Amino acid sequence: MDYEGQICRAPMERASFMLPVMVGCSYNRCKFCNLFRHLDYRELPIEQIEGELKRVKEAGGCPKKIFLGDGNAFGLKMERLLRILERIHVYFPECMCINMDATVTSIQQKSDQELRLLYENGVRHLYLGIESGLDDVLAFMEKDHDTSQAYKAIERLKRAGLIYDAHIMTGVAGRGRGQENARALAEFLNRTGPAHVVNFSMFLHKEVPLYRQIEDGTYIPADELENLLEERTLLKLIETEFLYDGFHDYIEVRVRGKLSRDREKMVKKLDQVICEYEGGEKLYSYVQGECPNLQRCGSLENVWNS
Ligand code: SF4
Repeated sequence: MDYEGQICRAPMERASFMLPVMVGCSYNRCKFCNLFRHLDYRELPIEQIEGELKRVKEAGGCPKKIFLGDGNAFGLKMERLLRILERIHVYFPECMCINMDATVTSIQQKSDQELRLLYENGVRHLYLGIESGLDDVLAFMEKDHDTSQAYKAIERLKRAGLIYDAHIMTGVAGRGRGQENARALAEFLNRTGPAHVVNFSMFLHKEVPLYRQIEDGTYIPADELENLLEERTLLKLIETEFLYDGFHDYIEVRVRGKLSRDREKMVKKLDQVICEYEGGEKLYSYVQGECPNLQRCGSLENVWNS
């Protein structure tokens, strides 16, 4: 099947069979996100999805894990989602680990019985774009939830047997608020207990609404050093157990491990990088263009002039 859009999924899904069931994201409004902004959202015909299952089966595929793409597959209506799950089980009856991205709203739109039914039909991991623990930041970034809604939705999905994983973004709160966001995120993650946390640390992109607010000064981005310090505080404050994977695109730092077992090792790695960047020129993770043709700029001046 030809893929439309930019592939972005949690690293723990890299070995999964990626089955597109839609093009784009049904929400498509998060201010920082450029993944599907240029695409008109549409659901793929069941025949096309089935064709892909058939192709993989005939090629000898026997996936243990399937990831439904794209932006918010859990937002599909129940009837459609169940039809897709039923088709998957026809081709791969042994596959009982069907994972996807979800928004808080897409969970709210399903009843407790429906969540349970999805679990019984093989749905397991839901990756939620939590991003920040601060309500004003969530509102500013036009996320479709606040923290109290997220707490309720996560409690419900866990009660149904589904597994909650969190996507977060250090740097999302902007300059001077990294420590505040780290404390709020730590509290949120400690209370909600995800299985995995992926930190796609904030990167700035020219083709998103946030860019205009950077230009007019209503959003001042944090530099990479502040983001690293935020991440360090976050790791220090985590009191629950989960697998953590954090990226910083521009400075190419990756910190991963199991909390709290690997905390000291992970913090040490961050300390080394922080030492390297302290006192130097401020760096911003800025991306222009689309994968794989990314251009990266090191300073805000370069961002504005490019
Ligand atoms: S829900 Fe995810 S994919 Fe959709 S706009 Fe927000 S961040 Fe992007």
